[in-house]
Amino acid sequence: MDNKAFTIALAGNPNSGKTSIFNKLTGARQSVGNYPGITVDRKEGHFRWKGKDVRVIDLPGTYSLTAGSPEELIARNVILDEKPDIVVNVIDASNLERNLYLTMQLMELGVNMILAMNMWDAVERRGLKTNLGKLEFLLGLPTVKTVGSKGKGITSLKDAVVGNRGVQTSSPWVKGASTPIKKAVSVLSAELACVNKQHCEWKAIKLLESDREVQKQEDESIVGFSVQLASKLETQRGISSGMLIARARYKYIEQLVKQVVVRTVSSRVSRSDRIDAIVTNRYVGIPIFLVMMYLVFSFTFTVGEPLMGYMEMLFKFIGNLVSGFWPSGSDSMLKALIVEGVIGGVGGVLVFLPNIFLLFLAIALLEDSGYMARVAFIMDGLMKKLGLHGKSFVPLLVGFGCTVPAILATRTLENRSDRFTTIMVAPLMSCGARFPIYMMIIPAFFPQAWRAPLVWIIYLVGILLSIVIARFLRKKVFKGEKTPFVMELPSYHIPTPVSILRHTWDNAGEYVKKAGTVILAISIILWVLSSFPRKTQFVTDYDLEINAVSESGLPAEVISDSIISLENTRQMEVFTHTVTGRLGRFLEPAMEPLGFDWRVTTALMAAIAAKEVFVSQMGVVFAVGEADEDSSTLREKLRENYTPLQGLAMMLFALISAPCAATIAATKKETESWKWAMIQLFGLTILAYIVTFVVYQVGLLVT
Ligand code: GDP
Ligand code: MG
Repeated sequence: MDNKAFTIALAGNPNSGKTSIFNKLTGARQSVGNYPGITVDRKEGHFRWKGKDVRVIDLPGTYSLTAGSPEELIARNVILDEKPDIVVNVIDASNLERNLYLTMQLMELGVNMILAMNMWDAVERRGLKTNLGKLEFLLGLPTVKTVGSKGKGITSLKDAVVGNRGVQTSSPWVKGASTPIKKAVSVLSAELACVNKQHCEWKAIKLLESDREVQKQEDESIVGFSVQLASKLETQRGISSGMLIARARYKYIEQLVKQVVVRTVSSRVSRSDRIDAIVTNRYVGIPIFLVMMYLVFSFTFTVGEPLMGYMEMLFKFIGNLVSGFWPSGSDSMLKALIVEGVIGGVGGVLVFLPNIFLLFLAIALLEDSGYMARVAFIMDGLMKKLGLHGKSFVPLLVGFGCTVPAILATRTLENRSDRFTTIMVAPLMSCGARFPIYMMIIPAFFPQAWRAPLVWIIYLVGILLSIVIARFLRKKVFKGEKTPFVMELPSYHIPTPVSILRHTWDNAGEYVKKAGTVILAISIILWVLSSFPRKTQFVTDYDLEINAVSESGLPAEVISDSIISLENTRQMEVFTHTVTGRLGRFLEPAMEPLGFDWRVTTALMAAIAAKEVFVSQMGVVFAVGEADEDSSTLREKLRENYTPLQGLAMMLFALISAPCAATIAATKKETESWKWAMIQLFGLTILAYIVTFVVYQVGLLVT
């Protein structure tokens, strides 16, 4: 063998099971998800079998290989440029017809190919009698039955790969296409310079499909000629040549599948189909989705509440333990930094770990069972009515976890208008980092029965705003053509506990990691900004006054009351002297109509660094200056200082306002312009201001 390792590339539709097969082949751990397009970047691995080393590339999942979306282009370029020795086309065999469309295009490339007939368990379950011998004969390609999720058929696949059993392909549908198409392809390919006959044919097909990337690489005269041919076809047949070619492929596939798959009558309605008849129903689909969401939140509250209490106790204990190292009354800077900055900040965020864990657990369940893919499908109907692309909702669903991958997932959207619209509204999907904010505020102000409905409403506000704004943007700002929506529905699976736990663990692990790194650093910086410059004069003045009061001989309750109030004012004065205090004070007049005092204002500003920082900064603000006392929990302090209406205003503002720094960076990267990142930043903040203002002012009138 030469020095280039034997390489195979896994190609297939999203959710065909590529990543599962990749993991089973290479033993690598990788996230396996139901969203089309979770595999945005390319993944590589290795395996050794029967003495041979094989490099495996997991291509992004695509339905097609046009230059329409970045993913399709990546998949195609890897195949063209790196010339893998074998392309393993992973096919969801229970949806043969749709999956073969990509197979046709892979065959056009003239690669060496093996078909992995995946989801073979689903084929059997649904009673689809599929004659693989006939499929192999008709396509002239070797097939291997696999069940990627369980690792069945992987050894046969390895054998086929190592035995180099891939077969060189050609475009099978061209022979059966109508004469004008056949002629156009052959006339054009005769004019092209290429490696071999199949390569010419591929380029000819692409040129007739007006593929921009191939056009860029060819001479102007050739491109001109192809445009001429294409428009001739178009006038002859009344539809674009690209469409004609797509139809020719489908016609071939249809006839092929007719010969290969025999549907028994009873197999028509599978269990998945029966569930879908209800879940994706036009009338009850959306209500069911809303109920599901509601169940998720009531689950996180009912199970999470006691656990959250334990976490609070734990961090209180740690706080007291650590302050015990210093003599009581000590005003050591280090002690303050550790107790107020680190434990108050990071601990404040980690208190919500159980809730985060439960939220991600619920999302993982919905995702792995196949339900989340349906949500996009259900929303498609609604989105279409609003003039939007339904596929936009898929990346938005990712946003319930984190906005950054949601923005990356917009790469699956083919046209720029849809992509930019979706990027701009993605931060409105309430991400995991906003969740602790709700978890802190809601139990502080609202009785048990209101809690789950309130989070639910907050999430809905985000979804509704995103739909309204997306519609506006799509109509007024990002006008342009619409691409048709092909959304596939993977069959429902009973999720395996291992995969659920792994999913949840990965996400919760991220949260802890972020708390221990980014949030820790920000908390320390914010503590410094919230503690300096120090004005000790205040402290001494108040100490004198407090002494005077305690020796005044007044009744005991009066004395303790005035001491508390003096201490509060002292803390306030010390704080207003510091950097964040001054900034908060400066902005307070602007934020007062929203119900925010300077403390909330500083915390909201700090939250731009990362949304959880709102929680940690509130922890720092309310802990500063009282490390000694047997302090009450943050939620108790919130209840003493604010009204439920103010709590609601905080949540709304945190939901809608400026996305976090990482999101702004992702928007800048994906739109390739600071302009859109800034418009997103300021646009959403202004929107947050307006919405919160209206809600708070109306709330004041009502109450
Ligand atoms: P990809 O998008 O092509 O990378 O597909 P994934 O590997 O992420 O798989 C999508 C879903 O299908 C996951 O929930 C897998 O557990 C599941 N899956 C993969 N292969 C099979 C299979 O052969 N049978 C069944 N029933 N499920 C599978
Ligand atoms: Mg994948």
